[in-house]
Amino acid sequence: MEKKEKKIVKASSSNKKTDEKIGIDSHGKIVKVEHNGEPKERATSKRIIAVCLWLVGIFFEVVGILRLKGTIGWIPSLSETAFLIICLVLDCIAVLVGSQFWKKANHIDPASEKNPTKFWIQNNLGSIISVVAFLPIIIFVLTDKEMDKKNKTIVSVVAIVALLIAGIGSYDFNPVSSEQLQRAEQEVLNVNPSGTVYWAPNSKKYHVNPDCPSFSRSETIIEGTVRDAYEAGLTDPCRRCIPELEEEHDHENEAE
Ligand SMILES: [Zn+2]
Repeated sequence: MEKKEKKIVKASSSNKKTDEKIGIDSHGKIVKVEHNGEPKERATSKRIIAVCLWLVGIFFEVVGILRLKGTIGWIPSLSETAFLIICLVLDCIAVLVGSQFWKKANHIDPASEKNPTKFWIQNNLGSIISVVAFLPIIIFVLTDKEMDKKNKTIVSVVAIVALLIAGIGSYDFNPVSSEQLQRAEQEVLNVNPSGTVYWAPNSKKYHVNPDCPSFSRSETIIEGTVRDAYEAGLTDPCRRCIPELEEEHDHENEAE
């Protein structure tokens, strides 16, 4: 039983309400969600959230270090080890979540390749912050003279695992440059002058054709711009509906 009816959802990174529209073609219901603000503004607000969460993470690290040094003796019902582990877990969560906002912002508003240092720092800042958020406390734990060996081992292992989780989870394995995004946008415009692309929730690539065979098993198709696709982590076009540009083609009449 193959269903031809498909739901198309317009991409959004915002939590703005859904504005339903009925499609007039064979794709069935089209659900569109509009964005809040321009890409730059959206990227900036994501970056602010990221920095705040990173600061929250570092705050928990500092609280842990202060407890270790005996500067703060509150919460007496918790052992030092339990207290430190809670700090490390909260630190890890805050850094990781912050980095996801940071990575999304970098895909909406990427750095230019022309400045390699800035490009590298911007794309690796989440992992750099992870080091800042864990390495100092690891050093404090390992050099602590009052902690017994067993607890020291437990806390330092937890801290190292947290550093690895945060560092790898914050790393952008698919960094985007502004030049790459521009090229991708132009490539889509050559095929579809509206610049609209489609992808399914489980897609690895974005498409210009909502009837692309890749969607044969997808009931919901998301509609958005190339930037939206990048924001969703999709940075590769489907070569079935977006042919590779070797020479200048004129695809304007093929637009669907
Ligand atoms: Zn396709």
